[in-house]
Amino acid sequence: MDNGGSNGSATASACCNGKINRGPHVAMLATPGMGHLIPLAELAKRLASRHGATATLITFASTASPTQRAFLASLPPAVSSLSLPPVDLSDLPRAAAIETRMSEECARSVPALTAVLAGLRRSTAGRLAAFVADLFGADSLDAARAAGVRRRCIFFPSNLHVLTLILHLPDLDAAVPGAFRDMPEPLRLPGCVPVPGPDVLMPLQDKADPCYRWMVHHGAKYRDAHAILVNSFDAVEPGPAKVLRQPESGGPSRRWPAVYPIGPLIHADGGRKDGASSSPCLEWLDRQPPRSVVFVSFGSGGALPAEQMRELALGLELSGQRFLWVVRSPSDGGAVNDNYYDAESKRDPFAYLPEGFVDRTCAAGVGLVVPSWAPQTQVLAHAATGAFLTHCGWNSVLESLVYGVPMVAWPLYAEQRQNAVLLSDGVGAALRVPESSKRREIIADTVREVMRGEGKGAAVRAKVAELQKAAAEGLRDGGAAAAALAEVVQGWTTTTGGGEKD
Ligand code: UDP
Repeated sequence: MDNGGSNGSATASACCNGKINRGPHVAMLATPGMGHLIPLAELAKRLASRHGATATLITFASTASPTQRAFLASLPPAVSSLSLPPVDLSDLPRAAAIETRMSEECARSVPALTAVLAGLRRSTAGRLAAFVADLFGADSLDAARAAGVRRRCIFFPSNLHVLTLILHLPDLDAAVPGAFRDMPEPLRLPGCVPVPGPDVLMPLQDKADPCYRWMVHHGAKYRDAHAILVNSFDAVEPGPAKVLRQPESGGPSRRWPAVYPIGPLIHADGGRKDGASSSPCLEWLDRQPPRSVVFVSFGSGGALPAEQMRELALGLELSGQRFLWVVRSPSDGGAVNDNYYDAESKRDPFAYLPEGFVDRTCAAGVGLVVPSWAPQTQVLAHAATGAFLTHCGWNSVLESLVYGVPMVAWPLYAEQRQNAVLLSDGVGAALRVPESSKRREIIADTVREVMRGEGKGAAVRAKVAELQKAAAEGLRDGGAAAAALAEVVQGWTTTTGGGEKD
């Protein structure tokens, strides 16, 4: 099924400019969520621009939202897309975790994916060099093997800390008998910042929930890959970067594939060119003083409970700082990730803001509230943006670092609490709003500290400036990330190296 992406057809060796393409072709499976699709598409674009590759992005039928369609349609001709046929998930309980839904959808799609990959092998006349699946796509490695794709990799869109945890899960499953949240001491993994039990990856918190078992399964399955590509860079997490380069240090039972930090890969539309299409957010930012605005966003799917939404509104007002807030209707009655599959707000979010809030702030010109979606990288790149109150999704974190924007951490679900620990306790690139007291006064104080560089905010600003330089090195042609990706591609195009698997 064609996705309506830039060149729909995944066929042939004829390239976009009419010339015969002899570069490798890569099939890439994006598990649901814009936070997975965006960095995978960036990887495809980088493979095209630096290695002469073409790519087919394969998506799931469950995620065909307008936001996703618009994104796929914007990709360059070297990156085509197609969607797998729908699979029946009606037997899953309504309350099934998104991690369970994604994993089930992927496992049940293996036969269809095998047929798609076999077709791609034929239509690309032997150029199909590799298959890349993301985080929840470990079962799809079986499809690639069955279809005879020679190199099979995992692209991990989160960070090396979370990857370390997932790689250790098959062992931790036995070593931690109770629930992670009840651990008396923080979880300590090689090279990693210690993580208090309640902040450990959300799908691991309840061992009775099927999503826990799925995560352990993925941890074991990752070992079938030839390589794991990670959207991170050494400077932001030097500890695990060093340890994962020496996988043998984990002992014989912990042998995993070579790990390549190839980040930061971010949606590169940050630089607005003259004449480029604008948006109300950017036009509003154009009218604000430099570094005067705190940008507030909870990623592609996050929403707050009504009470927290109210405290956040009043906290922003109390902070006296200008703000740009991407708002969704509250999560009450559902989960904080209810919008995950489509990013769109379920109800009118403005109806849930405190009475008079819009008049006192937006009408007065110090705030802008936009529903559901904003051009995030362009907002972060804008000179008026001074801080980012973020749910700590890893793409958002990387984008903030690339544009040198200090963060206020407000994690919601998935690996976000773990990321918040890394950023606030480990790296020092964010101040975290305390989990126990999300009251307006605390929110206002935290936002002010980061915006004005007061108290701990000064160190956060300095650290972010330092990491921005390191991130730029990661983005540079010939930088460390470029070298790592070149090594991976070399493994795809030569018959030696990378460890042959059946
Ligand atoms: N995003 C965006 N506009 C929005 C919300 C999100 O462009 O209003 C993009 C954001 O720039 C990032 C991705 O969606 O690239 C969200 O990924 P992240 O890992 O931060 O969080 P997730 O959505 O996976 O929770």
